[in-house]
Amino acid sequence: MDVTTTCRSISELLPAAQLACRLLFQECYKAGLTNIFITETYRSQARQDYLYEQGRSRAGEIVTWARSSNNHSGRLAWDIAVAPPASLYDTNTLNKVGAIARKLGITWGGDWEKNIDRPHFEVKKTWVMPTGYSIEGEITIPIDSKTKVNLIKKEEPKVAERDINKVSDWAKIDWEVAQENGYFDGARPGASITREEAAVVINRLRSNFLKLIGESKADIKALEARLQKFEKEEK
Ligand SMILES: [Zn+2]
Repeated sequence: MDVTTTCRSISELLPAAQLACRLLFQECYKAGLTNIFITETYRSQARQDYLYEQGRSRAGEIVTWARSSNNHSGRLAWDIAVAPPASLYDTNTLNKVGAIARKLGITWGGDWEKNIDRPHFEVKKTWVMPTGYSIEGEITIPIDSKTKVNLIKKEEPKVAERDINKVSDWAKIDWEVAQENGYFDGARPGASITREEAAVVINRLRSNFLKLIGESKADIKALEARLQKFEKEEK
């Protein structure tokens, strides 16, 4: 690439910086800061040398303090600007972005004591996303002032979650009868039943059933033996 042109593509950055940049733009979007765009990412040493000469051996204003390699040539830094109607390096906006960057463990040039550089952001190669954050969707990182920062959230599969404390309409009557008769306590009608809970209910039912028959036929032992015979045949 020609030394006079800037590279604005984040794909030229190292993976950690790409991720950090994406997260920064996502969090800016969520904070309502959508009027920012990338002005430079990777800068070759040749371009750095060329920029260094500006305002020194070549006419123009000084734009860089660094002669030797910096984090742009190391593919770990990116510069941003602010879209109109705000001024290109609107301090108010850059301060807000800087505050977000700080929270994300991204180094902001606005925090530097010497040669303060508000449009500049960088990370170390070892940067990792802080806990509690994730990339929530497709993030638009503008590289011109006409495009706005955007976040298109990933479609999350919608699982209709039922309220287990509310009885279904179709089961209402049975559920009430089962409660009135002492087989269920009325709690969590929509919860799944364990094998042991089922065993308790079955045995409650079984002993009541035997008692009922026993009252008319007296010989409960014999009745149980007969029931067991039926139960075995069911197997
Ligand atoms: Zn920079």
